Amino acid sequence: MIVPSRVLGLVRRLGPDALPAYVYDLGALDAHAAAIRAALPRSVEFYYAVKANPDARALRVLARHTDGFEVSSGGELEHAAAAVPDHPLAFGGPGKTADELAIALKAGTSRFHVESPHELAMLDASARAGGTQADVLLRVNPPGRSGGGQAQLVMGGKPSPFGMDLGLLRACAELLSRMDAVRLRGLHAHLASGLEADDLLAGARRLVEFGRDWCAAQGVRAPEFNLGGGMAVDYARPEALFGWARYGRGLARLARDGETLRIEPGRAVTAYCGWYLTRVLDVKRSHGEAFAVVAGGTHHLRTPAAKGHDQPCAVISVPDWTAPWPRPGVSAQAVTITGQLCTPKDVLARRVTVKRLRAGDVVAFGMAGAYAWNISHRDFLMHPPPAFHYLT
Ligand SMILES: *Cc1c(COP(=O)(O)O)cnc(C)c1O
Repeated sequence: MIVPSRVLGLVRRLGPDALPAYVYDLGALDAHAAAIRAALPRSVEFYYAVKANPDARALRVLARHTDGFEVSSGGELEHAAAAVPDHPLAFGGPGKTADELAIALKAGTSRFHVESPHELAMLDASARAGGTQADVLLRVNPPGRSGGGQAQLVMGGKPSPFGMDLGLLRACAELLSRMDAVRLRGLHAHLASGLEADDLLAGARRLVEFGRDWCAAQGVRAPEFNLGGGMAVDYARPEALFGWARYGRGLARLARDGETLRIEPGRAVTAYCGWYLTRVLDVKRSHGEAFAVVAGGTHHLRTPAAKGHDQPCAVISVPDWTAPWPRPGVSAQAVTITGQLCTPKDVLARRVTVKRLRAGDVVAFGMAGAYAWNISHRDFLMHPPPAFHYLT
């Protein structure tokens, strides 16, 4: 993959001994988020799913282009409220506790994505106790892939701990008719992750077509539909971005006056702005295959282990070699890049074809800005954490 000159310049300034390190290219993030916003119809609200990367400086950049942030825990809620104060927060995710709901109500959370009738009852009680009201979207169990309309919504959904099927939605409607501290504002559905524009649009259409009737039956005026995130990110083709323009045109066809459509992508927003830079510690052959062991590993960058892919990367050649013995390396061949952990799962990229790779060279892993550092089992083996740098 191509390493931007800004990142290359930073590597040269830092030197290999300062690695491993993460670099967040905030300038690139700013431009990317602006392009997403520009591809969406003005009426569509753009929230960012904080769990993809909660870095405070990234959140502040995203605040320029987004309408709000989706948080999935009390911890994320307090972090986002501090990092980007006065930005609307939507509180989603399974297993919300009574304490988290109370904190969220006090923080003025703008929307609650409710996962079950029990959670709805808890929220109502908490809001009543606090003398306030909560605005609610009910999270729907994602509809299936084929067909359309209400029947498919019921039949297509698979058993899942997330969201509610039609039976639970009905139970919520029954509860809502007797509650006065929660206001139903619409529905939410996060379909899956890694979907292309047409698949996301088909799901959105099913949710909205079902939701219009369902919300009208509950007396909801000006309903809102949160269409979730899950926009595809192709780690095998870093230059191929999600079809935001196509998606935006589809949403424009779906949108109606008097309704609000909202999206909450995470990965496709921040994945591209992050780099994990490290140095090669050793290169060797084993039973005919070449391996390069780098400083750090999947305890810093768990993404390839979590997703089962090869993290895209590039070699940055470092000429210096001062040891009196020969420099281990390979040229014009495939090499598997592993980390420092004592487990065969610590693989960052398999059989990468390199022109040359030697101990002491730098490897830059791209697409490390989402579900990367923050999902990594950082304490395993007690290696030092990476440094963090920002390009503005
Ligand atoms: C994880 C999640 C998102 C973001 O998903 P991406 O695949 O990162 O876009 C959005 N909404 C909900 C409810 C989620 O759980």
